[in-house]
Amino acid sequence: MPAAVYVGDGRIEVDEVPRPEPGPGEVLVEIAACGICGSDLHMVLERYARPGAILGHEWSGIVAEAPRDSGWSTGDRVVGNAAPGCGECRPCRRGRPSVCMRRASADFAGYRGAFCQYKTAAADGLIRIPDSLATRPAALAEPTAITLHALRLADVRPDDRVLVTGAGPVGLLIIAVLRAQGISDITVSEPSPLRRQQALDVGATRVVTPEMLREPPMTQPVAEPFAIAFECSGHASAAETALGQLDYAGTLVIVGTGFEPPRFNQNRLIIFELEVIGAYNYNDDGFGPAVDLLGSGALPLGSLIEPTDIPLSEVMYAMERLARGEIPSKVMVQPGLAS
Ligand SMILES: [Zn+2]
Ligand SMILES: [Zn+2]
Repeated sequence: MPAAVYVGDGRIEVDEVPRPEPGPGEVLVEIAACGICGSDLHMVLERYARPGAILGHEWSGIVAEAPRDSGWSTGDRVVGNAAPGCGECRPCRRGRPSVCMRRASADFAGYRGAFCQYKTAAADGLIRIPDSLATRPAALAEPTAITLHALRLADVRPDDRVLVTGAGPVGLLIIAVLRAQGISDITVSEPSPLRRQQALDVGATRVVTPEMLREPPMTQPVAEPFAIAFECSGHASAAETALGQLDYAGTLVIVGTGFEPPRFNQNRLIIFELEVIGAYNYNDDGFGPAVDLLGSGALPLGSLIEPTDIPLSEVMYAMERLARGEIPSKVMVQPGLAS
């Protein structure tokens, strides 16, 4: 079967690889769509991936082979459902399975993701896509689960004024989910006019350029402060600006990964009692709530996903364009598309 394989040196190539054989307790899934994630970009362009790895973890598909006692039949539409935490490691014991130490990451040799035609999956590690949701947008389940988790960590409330810095694929999803959860005052700071328009399309109330956010006075909040800021751009300057826009007891949620660490004024953190938190993974209830939200019709799926899907042969090119900020929303790879 064809697969987009990481070959080292920051490159992905399409290769023929053996079609995987499901082991005991596993089913074979034909991948319908797989989103390109920011972490895939890091794995490839920053060379964390191991040569031979097949990346791609935001997938939906159709069961192609299932043992009779698996509970699944050929043709069932599914998404992978992340296992909850192990329940035993330090973070799990502290009630934070989202950072379970036994969750596998994608940077080991032999990682088998979904930038390929077929994938095996544990029969008990799948959930059914509801009739109300098409198979392709169901591939947003994983990033939507992460988004729901970030909102819960931030404890966002409907009357909060919220700032989002960066309207790439992550920021757009945060905006759309905030809106779907009843938050109506959402300001988005984004330098690209294309992405500012996309932010409005998915539910932002107001868009600004980063320069429009003023430096705060030393001992006072800005004129129109925010209760919560989600930093989704990965830029140190955006994180620094976002912190300066917070109201008393405000929370900055860092969602975008980046190279340069931000510098924060600790006195501001103290006298405003600000919180800076990170949000990385999903809740221990896995993708269920995300799939429900995607199937509810409350999200503008057409604006969250790029209109044209790509074949495996264009994954590398799409990653380079995403890294340059040229593509506003989620790129879906369809391994079945002819290149
Ligand atoms: Zn992802
Ligand atoms: Zn654990």
